[in-house]
Amino acid sequence: MRILVTGGAGFLGSHLIDRLMVAGHEVICLDNFYTGNKHNVGQWLGNPNFELIRHDVTEPIRLEVDQIYHLACPASPVHYQYNPVKTIKTNVMGTLNMLGLAKRVKARFFLASTSEIYGDPEVHPQPEEYRGNVNPIGIRSCYDEGKRVAETLAFDYHRQNDVDIRVVRIFNTYGPRMLENDGRVVSNLIVQALQGIPLTVYGDGSQTRSFCYVSDLVEGFIRLMNSDYIGPVNLGNPGEYTILELAKTIQDMINPDAPLKFEPLPQDDPRRRQPDITLAKTQLGWEPKVPLKEGLHYTIEDFRQRLGDRVAAAAVMGR
Ligand code: NAD
Ligand code: UDP
Ligand code: UDP
Repeated sequence: MRILVTGGAGFLGSHLIDRLMVAGHEVICLDNFYTGNKHNVGQWLGNPNFELIRHDVTEPIRLEVDQIYHLACPASPVHYQYNPVKTIKTNVMGTLNMLGLAKRVKARFFLASTSEIYGDPEVHPQPEEYRGNVNPIGIRSCYDEGKRVAETLAFDYHRQNDVDIRVVRIFNTYGPRMLENDGRVVSNLIVQALQGIPLTVYGDGSQTRSFCYVSDLVEGFIRLMNSDYIGPVNLGNPGEYTILELAKTIQDMINPDAPLKFEPLPQDDPRRRQPDITLAKTQLGWEPKVPLKEGLHYTIEDFRQRLGDRVAAAAVMGR
C-alpha cells in the first residue's frame, strides 16, 4: 500500500514509519519540522519506497495514497502553547485538508486524537463514552479543543462523505527519539537526571498519569487502522503513577543523588489520568506489554547515547 504519515518526522510518526517500511509499504512522510526532524527518518532517506515532503498541513496538498495516518501536531504543552493559534490551525485546517484529501482519493483516514479531550476528568479511569471536562478558554484549549474539533470533523466527513475513518485517543506515551527539549515529563526528568541537575516536579507531584511505551502504542495504531472498528478507541497503558513516583523511579535508575525541585503546577493541569482500555482489548485484541521500568530503561539509554554523542561532538569542535 501507499501510506501517508503526516507528522512522520516526529516522535510517534517516525516509529510508525519504521514499522510500515519494514512491512514493505510505500511511505510518504509529510512534516513541517516544527518539532520533528529528518534525523528521525534518516535511516529511510534514499530508500525507493520512502519519500519525505516538507509541507505544512494547514496548506492543501494533492497526493495519491491508500491510507493516511494523520499525526501532524505538536504534542508537548510547551510546544503547542508556544504558538496556540498555529496549534488550532494545525488541528482544524490541517485535519480538514487531510480529510478532503482522503475523500478525493478514497483513502482510509486515521486521526491521532488524545486523552486531553477528556480534560481534567471527573470520571476515573476514562472510558470512551466519557465526554470530558475541558476548559474552552484556557491555555491548553488550543490543543484539547482543537483535537475535539478534529474528531468532530472526522465523524462529519464519515457521515456526510462516507470517508472511512479510524480515531484513536492516545494517552501519555514515551520512548526513544523524544526531543531533549520536548518539555514533557518523562524526557525532562531523564535529561535532568543525566545532566545531574534537579528533577522538576510541578505542584506537589500528586497528580497522576499512565505511561505507555512507544512500541506498544504503534502496534495498537496498526491494529486499529487495519480493523473494521472506527473508534474512538483509547490506547494507553493503564498503569497509573503519581508524578512524584515517576520522578523517584527515574532518580533511582539514573542518579539517586540528583535532587528534586518543586515548581508551580501549570494552569488546568489534569489531576488524574488513566485509560480504560476495555474497548481496545475486545475490538483489537490489544494491550500494552512493556512495563514502565523496562520502557524507561530503553528511553534512558537512547538519551544517554544522544547526549553523549553531543558532548563528544562538542569536544571535537573545540579541539
Ligand atoms: P511530535 O511533536 O514529536 O510530532 C509531531 C510532528 O508533527 C512533528 O514532526 C512536527 O514537526 C509535525 N507537525 C506539527 N505541526 C505540523 C504542521 N502544521 N504541518 C506538518 N507537520 C506538522 O509529537 P508526537 O508525540 O509524535 O505526537 C504525534 C501525534 O500524536 C500528535 O497529533 C499528538 O497530538 C498525538 N498524541 C501524542 C501523545 C504522546 O504522548 N506522545 C499523546 C496524545 C496524542
Ligand atoms: N484538499 C486537499 N487535498 C485534496 C483534496 C482536498 O488538501 O486532495 C483540501 C481542500 O483544499 C479543502 C479541504 O481539503 O481545503 C476540504 O476539502 P473538501 O473537498 O472536503 O471541501 P471543499 O474543497 O469543497 O471546501
Ligand atoms: N510535569 C512535571 N515536571 C516536568 C514536566 C511535566 O512535573 O518537568 C508534570 C505536568 O505538570 C503534568 C505531568 O507531569 O502533571 C505530565 O506532563 P506532560 O507535559 O508530560 O503531559 P500532559 O500534562 O500533557 O499529560
